[in-house]
Amino acid sequence: MISFEKLYSEGHEEVVFFSDPTCNLKAIVAIHDTTLGPALGGTRMWPYASEEEAITDVLRLSKGMTYKNSVSGLNLGGGKAVIIGDPKKDKSEALFRSYGSFLETLNGRYITAEDVNIGVEDIEHIFTETNNVVGVAKTHGGSGNPSPYTARGVFRGIEASLTKVFGDRSVKGKVVALQGAGCVGTHLGELLYEGGAKVYFTDINEENIARFKEAVPHAELVGVEEIYDVPCDVYAPCALGATVNDNTIDRLKCKIVAGAANNQLAEKRHGDILREKGMLYAPDYLINAGGVMNVSIEFEGWSDDKATRMVDTIFDKTMEVFKISEDQNIPVYRATDVLAEARLEAIKKIQGRFMGDMKSHRFPGRKNRRG
Ligand code: NAD
Repeated sequence: MISFEKLYSEGHEEVVFFSDPTCNLKAIVAIHDTTLGPALGGTRMWPYASEEEAITDVLRLSKGMTYKNSVSGLNLGGGKAVIIGDPKKDKSEALFRSYGSFLETLNGRYITAEDVNIGVEDIEHIFTETNNVVGVAKTHGGSGNPSPYTARGVFRGIEASLTKVFGDRSVKGKVVALQGAGCVGTHLGELLYEGGAKVYFTDINEENIARFKEAVPHAELVGVEEIYDVPCDVYAPCALGATVNDNTIDRLKCKIVAGAANNQLAEKRHGDILREKGMLYAPDYLINAGGVMNVSIEFEGWSDDKATRMVDTIFDKTMEVFKISEDQNIPVYRATDVLAEARLEAIKKIQGRFMGDMKSHRFPGRKNRRG
């Protein structure tokens, strides 16, 4: 169960439980670190088998957001929230508005967004009750769907990896094995196709496969298991986490692992093995940060231009991580953490803690009914 010892050891500042029996709301918000600004991270809805499982998940995910927002250069801390429930049965307007009104009581220390099983409609209900939510529809002054920006960032990460391995960033003539033809995977497939890459892909969903084929002409479909055996330059996991594991690592025939999925390494030691095998791993939480970069600028007034420029910085940041990895002789996953921790430490030294007040981040372009 949750304990102060656990919170101290992982560095969490605050964990809040929201309950509203009138609409069956059971939500947990974890604010990990607000050194860099208000904690930003999505809300996930999941039918957790136990409260313990939900707590473990929210603590892990919120810490991950601190690292992601730090390494991405955002002036935002790390947080995350989970709603315990079955998204197919338990969603209602009342539940999300109740959740939104609870978030409002945090006074801007936590800003939420979409995560697994949370859609645009749910975000709109939350936005009815609080301004402390991003990923709001464009019609309401928000930034809309983040997937194209996530895909663009992953593409920049792939270009940086190609530069490191081949001395040339171009994807022209390169072979990519893309796993997961969903929202991000399809946009990434389009960018790869436009750049002249040869794309092999897989998915478990027939509809998504058909949509991908239409968007990415000449892409070749392979079996769900076969994707690990495709001789390629880049293996791009864009479906699930932990696909670099004991069962797959000896099958991979790529020079680079770079994709959108979170937590691609089943365990950190798989990052060490990739390094020993001479396969370059592009840091997942850096190269998939395009989505969070995109929503982060809703505070100051979103524009496609600004979002695009921000996302393009992923190329240089990825090169910086590769350099740290080489200079310090450490694996890439560790080098990414080093960069994130160095920024946090430096800013902690020059500022007091508890910088999370939203007032300085209020923005004029977007108003909900509370103004
Ligand atoms: P999505 O649900 O739209 O797409 C995932 C796709 O993977 C689906 O088409 C699904 O059918 C497929 N899939 C599931 N299991 C599979 C399997 N075993 N083999 C092959 N395909 C399988 O999700 P998305 O928004 O495209 O996100 C993709 C990944 O990137 C996720 O891991 C997500 O957490 C991560 N991510 C997404 C964003 C974003 O902006 N959407 C941002 C950061 C990270």
